[in-house]
Amino acid sequence: MINPTEHIADQFGRIHDYLRISLTERCNLRCFYCMPEDGIVLSEKSNLMSHEEVIAIAQQFVQLGVKKIRLTGGEPLLKKNIEKIIEELSQLPISLGITTNGILLEKYIDLFNKCGVKDINISLDTLNKEKFEQITRRDYFDKVLSNIDLYEKNGFNVKINNVIIKGTNDDEIADFIAFTKNRNIAIRFIEFMPFDGNKWNTEKIITLDDILKVAKERFSEENIITLKSKKNGTAKNFRINGFKGEFGVISTVSNPFCDSCNRIRLTANGRIKNCLFSSTETDLLTPLRNGENIAEHIKKGILHKFKVRGGMETNEDFFNEDNFTKNRNMTTIGG
Ligand code: SAM
Ligand code: SF4
Repeated sequence: MINPTEHIADQFGRIHDYLRISLTERCNLRCFYCMPEDGIVLSEKSNLMSHEEVIAIAQQFVQLGVKKIRLTGGEPLLKKNIEKIIEELSQLPISLGITTNGILLEKYIDLFNKCGVKDINISLDTLNKEKFEQITRRDYFDKVLSNIDLYEKNGFNVKINNVIIKGTNDDEIADFIAFTKNRNIAIRFIEFMPFDGNKWNTEKIITLDDILKVAKERFSEENIITLKSKKNGTAKNFRINGFKGEFGVISTVSNPFCDSCNRIRLTANGRIKNCLFSSTETDLLTPLRNGENIAEHIKKGILHKFKVRGGMETNEDFFNEDNFTKNRNMTTIGG
């Protein structure tokens, strides 16, 4: 039985108790903002974490005080032995969730029920079938939509991640909010973030104010209810009066939430990133394979985390292509 005795803290006293594990670099979509059309050069299989290594590393994190784990990718449901990974992680004293593109979800509903995995984040950027194909370069729109309905009807906590990009899907903001009228679902509009080769520029950012403006025009100001923020939450959340679901905005670019950051990212090749935007990483897989105690590597890797956005304190730094092209692309970080 794991009995957490320590905390993972950084030099600014931020306690890190939330681990996002990217299980695989592979994906069955090619969302243009995340992955190049021809895919990415994948790591050698021997350099990726096996199912046993994922569990061993996760156990060490839980021993160090991690209370929440989210599985991501690439597409996490493509990981070999995903059933075993979920079953074994669900034995740990944590809350376990998953972020998925939704394509394979119907196969796993019994497993998730059995293992108590309730928090299911599904990515969907458009309610239009043709646009879905343009964004993802694949034809799975109907499947994703039916799986969203399946999980909502079965009582899971479903959130829809929507990367909102000017000129691509910002004309659908009101339709996505309307989607929450009869569904107990939370839509989360995520600001488009810059990564190597993803055609990002500042003009494509849609901010919280832009979204609220559309919401006021379509549903009128007095019907917009501001919801209480969650501890370490990244979204500002709202509900339209009388609607079952809610919507939120994650302003990673225009208004980062670094002060309350409690997140650690573990990549599929066993490295930790102490920030989504950091260009440095700490290898855990090699020391694990060498039989070393990885706890010290974890603590050191987090201790020197920068205060803000991987050390890019000003927008000038952050928007400088030379900086963000040093980072991995999102497929291999996991969001
Ligand atoms: N394949 C799964 C999925 O799409 O949900 C999990 C991995 S994906 C990298 C995790 C999240 O990152 C998704 O919600 C995706 O929309 C988001 N994402 C990817 N690239 C992004 C970008 N450039 N800006 C903002 N969010 C991004
Ligand atoms: Fe795949 Fe998710 Fe990236 Fe889309 S956002 S390409 S589904 S990893």
